[in-house]
Amino acid sequence: MLSYRHSFHAGNFADVLKHLVQVAILEYLKRKDKPFCYHDTHSGAGLYSLSGEHASKTGEYQSGIGVLFNQAVPTTLEDGPVGRYLRLLHQLNPDGELEFYPGSPSIAAQLLRPQDALQLTELHPTDYGLLSQHLGKRKHCRIEKMDAWAGIKAMLPPLARRGLVLIDPPYELSHEYDDVVKGLQLALQRFATGCYAIWYPVIDRGHIERFVAQVAALPVTDLLRIEWCPKADSTGFGMTGSGMLVINPPYLLAEQCRAMLPWLHHQLGNAGPSQVTQLIAEA
Ligand code: SAM
Repeated sequence: MLSYRHSFHAGNFADVLKHLVQVAILEYLKRKDKPFCYHDTHSGAGLYSLSGEHASKTGEYQSGIGVLFNQAVPTTLEDGPVGRYLRLLHQLNPDGELEFYPGSPSIAAQLLRPQDALQLTELHPTDYGLLSQHLGKRKHCRIEKMDAWAGIKAMLPPLARRGLVLIDPPYELSHEYDDVVKGLQLALQRFATGCYAIWYPVIDRGHIERFVAQVAALPVTDLLRIEWCPKADSTGFGMTGSGMLVINPPYLLAEQCRAMLPWLHHQLGNAGPSQVTQLIAEA
């Protein structure tokens, strides 16, 4: 059953955190000339109109990118992921009016160099079609209407043997948490040295702590947890925050996230817990 459409949620506070972490990792990978691969397991449509019916109906972006778009970036954050992310948003909306929001594949397509590759899987027929229209002509970009976990089997390890795998399921079905753990197990067997960024929602604190513990029990030697909850923990009132688990993170990522979280708190709230925690450290 595929009922989820990211167009209802694009640009919300959870997208902001996820895409800031994505930008930080991709910019780090570009420090070496050697090509790398960006693999997106749950790609979505790639580009979203914020004045469209779906985004207007929920208005979620208004307490996310809608607040940040016209904010002055503190000079200490200008050269890091925050500055890069907001510049990318302004390149996409050059007249200064926030109309479009880029999905994770578009962010990668903007940041990758000609020598880097994209591998994108998406199951929803409509979003797969939109993604193909948007990025189908790009060189070194493979787009498949394929299950995320079948895609991992088919496409990992990437030719370049270095890169980022973004795992961003809708988590609308309870088995999707177990699917991530099983999918990661398989991915790590095939591509142990890759960087993996796994997004998760904070809806029920107990449930998410069990999920994090399951990921931490996988055979990984370096695991970073970044979490930001603009709203206080509760049960039954929807998403209060979100986080990223990053396996094999760039060494700068923790520091960059610690620097940007106070700014996000100030702009968008921090009624709930936030953390940047090294859950497993490289020996
Ligand atoms: N990563 C995107 C971004 O940041 O712009 C958003 C992805 S959205 C949260 C999740 C997407 O996963 C949806 O477009 C949904 O259709 C797709 N999806 C759901 N189950 C899937 C599966 N098993 N394999 C591949 N895609 C799936």
